[in-house]
Amino acid sequence: MRQNKVVFFSSQEPLEESAMVIFAHPDDAEGNCGGTTAKWVREGKAIHYFVLTNGDKGSDDPSMTSDRLAAIREKEQEAAAKVLGVSGITFLRIPDGELEVSLALRKEITRIIRLHQPAIVFTHDPWKLYQFHPDHRATGFLALDAIVAARDRLYYPDQLDQGMKPCRVKKIYLFGTENPDFWVDISGIIELKLQAARCHKSQGLDSQKVQERIRNRALEVGKVKGFLYGEAFKKFVG
Ligand SMILES: [Zn+2]
Repeated sequence: MRQNKVVFFSSQEPLEESAMVIFAHPDDAEGNCGGTTAKWVREGKAIHYFVLTNGDKGSDDPSMTSDRLAAIREKEQEAAAKVLGVSGITFLRIPDGELEVSLALRKEITRIIRLHQPAIVFTHDPWKLYQFHPDHRATGFLALDAIVAARDRLYYPDQLDQGMKPCRVKKIYLFGTENPDFWVDISGIIELKLQAARCHKSQGLDSQKVQERIRNRALEVGKVKGFLYGEAFKKFVG
């Protein structure tokens, strides 16, 4: 039976609003919002990672098994999160590629949101044209559907009976978007983003080629706003 795993690196009370990054695979967060995460943590926000799949399909190595890969990728994700200063991670451990937009998962994700009470949520833009990875699409839809459910007390009253409170997410930032309208200057923190990405060795993110690709992408995104390096999002304010 699938069991969630939760790790906490810090129990420090946030000085400012807390945020949650909801993403499909171990490594998605670093590439998409690793710079913003590192920067905002240093400005006093507590950021919790919530990764929905276990990433157990991401290997071309013929000697690799799914079980072994899932364990490696959790360790890699923990190491990367520590580099950025993330306060903890919830691993939902759905098999890679098998994430479905279902009512059961919406309820489970609502529960985790209500538990952590984030004011800010980052997730995949599910409307990105030609987004062909099913988990990226599904994660975006599940996260947004759960944000709506977490807010309204008549969704899943059994969760409220267990002592949880509804959660009103104030700001949503979609990454991997074609329609950015919010940019973060990560010029002072790009090296930490790259260092966190390097933790994902099983995915080749430590190779010079991929490191350059991440750096060049941040250069391109930053250029739009006159930053040296940047990350871009579609922002919604609730
Ligand atoms: Zn992914």
